[in-house]
Amino acid sequence: MSSTRRTRTLALPTLAVHAGEPAHDVDSPVATPLYQSVSFVQEIGTSDGLLYPRYGNTPNAEVVQKKLAALDRAEAAVVTSSGMGATACALMALLRPGDHLLASRDIYGGTQRLLTEELTSLGIDVTLVDPFEARGWRKRMRKETRAVYIESPVNPTCRVLDLKPLSYLTHESGLALVVDSTFASPINLRPLEHGADVVIHSATKFLNGHHDVMGGAVLGTASYVEEVRQKMIMWGQVPDPFACWMLERGLKTLDVRVKRQNENALRIAQWCAERKEIRAVHYPGLEDHPDHEVAVDQMDGFGGMLALELSGGGRAADRFVRKLRIIRHAPSLGGVDSLVSEPRYTSHTHLTSEERARMGVPDGFLRLSVGLEDAADLIADIEHALH
Ligand SMILES: *Cc1c(COP(=O)(O)O)cnc(C)c1O
Repeated sequence: MSSTRRTRTLALPTLAVHAGEPAHDVDSPVATPLYQSVSFVQEIGTSDGLLYPRYGNTPNAEVVQKKLAALDRAEAAVVTSSGMGATACALMALLRPGDHLLASRDIYGGTQRLLTEELTSLGIDVTLVDPFEARGWRKRMRKETRAVYIESPVNPTCRVLDLKPLSYLTHESGLALVVDSTFASPINLRPLEHGADVVIHSATKFLNGHHDVMGGAVLGTASYVEEVRQKMIMWGQVPDPFACWMLERGLKTLDVRVKRQNENALRIAQWCAERKEIRAVHYPGLEDHPDHEVAVDQMDGFGGMLALELSGGGRAADRFVRKLRIIRHAPSLGGVDSLVSEPRYTSHTHLTSEERARMGVPDGFLRLSVGLEDAADLIADIEHALH
């Protein structure tokens, strides 16, 4: 398992357990020890091999970085202290003052603010594009454009973007295609296999999967990831060794967790689609989802995220959430516990009801992050709350 070349040929469930870990010698621990140290004894007479947690090169960071790179089939990965830290460092390594970034309009609220407030204050121009507008990307390209930034599947609408035409466009124009695939995890989507150049994850979500660690990751070529690592070092976006150790532990079960979440979410979506109290169910695994064909082509599973629109609007949604017994009202997603949230009180709170409706998030819209509980118990919980 110590050879990177060998790990490339193994299947994802095996990689999730073993990739990135040191050779298994007699007496070596099966679980990676936690090196909760900020200082490591240095070789005399050279600066080579200097270890320091902020450099992202201490043992717990190295193991988890190698494991993530193997799972996303990337040359290299760097782990950061949050998903936002990952996005910030990934873009700082790509863009300079005077450059132009094309970004999907349908992205995580924090990312949108990072682009439109922080990057613009550094002299980087950003244009938000409706990713479903025909030729929308091409029309807004300029000679200063350096990269295209998208999220797929989209938070919270669960739309899926087709990477094939987008990567064709970016390669033809010499742009970098950056994909935040937090919603999918590498079990369901590996964007690099579909022409993306850079992958970003909030490891806080599916990758760790237990609602107890913050982290992020950037993946791509070794030379690009090294540039991202330099940004991480300078802007101090590094994770603590304990967060890396926890993340490694979470990743061991990534494959079984995500597959169960996929199954549960599909069953719930199918059940909800038959209920008159629910006006719409947004789940890429349903045949009437607008991006179902793209999802079938591009993804290995449809994900653990789905969205419901209740026929009774906002008041019905509040009533529904109050009556749930298993599924809890909490932000964040991707973990073992099922959670529900209303975007009008979280990511979309700064918009008016009309603006939200125009973005596909009308009042009565609920985002469901499906966990590992028994699907029938979750359905019974939803049925009870609908009455
Ligand atoms: C949560 C999230 C982020 C931000 O990650 P943090 O770990 O909270 O910093 C970025 N993108 C998506 C799609 C997310 O869901």
